[in-house]
Amino acid sequence: MSEHKTATIWHPFTQMKSDTEPIHISIGDGIYLTDKQGNRIIDAISSWWVNIHGHANPVIAAAIYEQAMRLEHVLFAGFTHDPAIKLADQLAELLPGGLNNIFYSDNGSTAVEVALKLACQYYYNRGFQPRNRFIAFQNAYHGDTIGAMSAGGRGTFTMPFRELLFHTDYIDYPSTWIGDTGVEQKEEMSLAHLEKLLAEHESRYAAIIIEPLVQGAGGMNMCRPEFLKKIRAVCDEYDTLLIFDEVMTGFGRTGHWFASTGSGVRPDLICLSKGITGGFMPLSATVATKEIYEAFYSDDRNKTFFHGHSYTANPLACAAAVASIGLLRNNPLQFTGMAQKHEKYAGYLMQMEQVVKFRICGTIAAWQVKTGGESGYMNKIAPVLRKKFLDKGILIRPLGNTLYLMPPYIITDEELEGIYKVIPEVLSSLDLKF
Ligand SMILES: *Cc1c(COP(=O)(O)O)cnc(C)c1O
Repeated sequence: MSEHKTATIWHPFTQMKSDTEPIHISIGDGIYLTDKQGNRIIDAISSWWVNIHGHANPVIAAAIYEQAMRLEHVLFAGFTHDPAIKLADQLAELLPGGLNNIFYSDNGSTAVEVALKLACQYYYNRGFQPRNRFIAFQNAYHGDTIGAMSAGGRGTFTMPFRELLFHTDYIDYPSTWIGDTGVEQKEEMSLAHLEKLLAEHESRYAAIIIEPLVQGAGGMNMCRPEFLKKIRAVCDEYDTLLIFDEVMTGFGRTGHWFASTGSGVRPDLICLSKGITGGFMPLSATVATKEIYEAFYSDDRNKTFFHGHSYTANPLACAAAVASIGLLRNNPLQFTGMAQKHEKYAGYLMQMEQVVKFRICGTIAAWQVKTGGESGYMNKIAPVLRKKFLDKGILIRPLGNTLYLMPPYIITDEELEGIYKVIPEVLSSLDLKF
């Protein structure tokens, strides 16, 4: 056999044997991606939810260029720099009061790992009995590293690692949708379950972790702000920390700057990533309250948070984030006003018999496609739908039989309306007897 001269690139969440060949993209421009053959595709999911300003935004590109000409990187232990300081100040200003202790890392999973470790060490530093369990939600997704996986819902993805994952206790996420009449009951049941766990084993739990308002990868499940308020009250009652994983919901996604500010709930820890640099650079932040920070602030070196990454607070990434936040500040209507547009243009779609559980939260609209098959990620309809939408020039990646739109905030009314005209055509063309 001759020696292989070309490398194989292994793509994420991809079955390399049977999935379709990756589409080779050459150019990104606003909401459009252009492939090598010159086909234009509308990026209706903001490239896995990160490109909030669309692609190749010149303001962010310039900010990165200018920063690169000054200082591209410096280690962050014992050193600091302007972009990191500026970004931290901006985050502290935008997040709920008191959340102003910023720990940088470089992806969402790691932001979650940091939050879990901070929660655990918070009790350790204060001399408590070890608190090393977490309460999470069914179908949660917190990332793909071992700790983040452990806190997420269990399923096909986590099966090969099940013996490696630490134990987590799960409660139901009280999902709701337009016209749902059972939401209060679902919330009460979840809260009762939570209280039961905490009442029985209060001293065991370091934190409760939740994707506030919207569970992303678990199927765009949406809950009410009222529920988050009640969770906060229960956490206070039992002195257990509350972690908001806002990796997806941050930076305008839910129609507010953050799910926390939008629902008026102050968690103890917030994880941020995805939209933070507008899709230009990998970056994340875990933000803690003063109470948590102070549990680590000590003459005793053993109370240090011994955690860090090579690219922690990379200056180019921080500069991109500052520029991205500037764009959001200049035009907050882009994200605060999108829910109404979804409502306006989805009217016909919502009435289709193939469509159930329609729901909107800020810039996100989601619904289930009725199929003969089981709900969930492995539902066979997903690749069929993805292909049909691509043929129509729209990038939509269904999560099983959950279809959703999560467009860049810069999408125009005409473009959004155009997508909503294509969707019914595609759904009507389906043979729904799987
Ligand atoms: C995407 C996501 C993560 C993981 O972020 P990565 O950058 O992909 O590691 C964690 N939590 C939530 C809620 C997410 O949506």
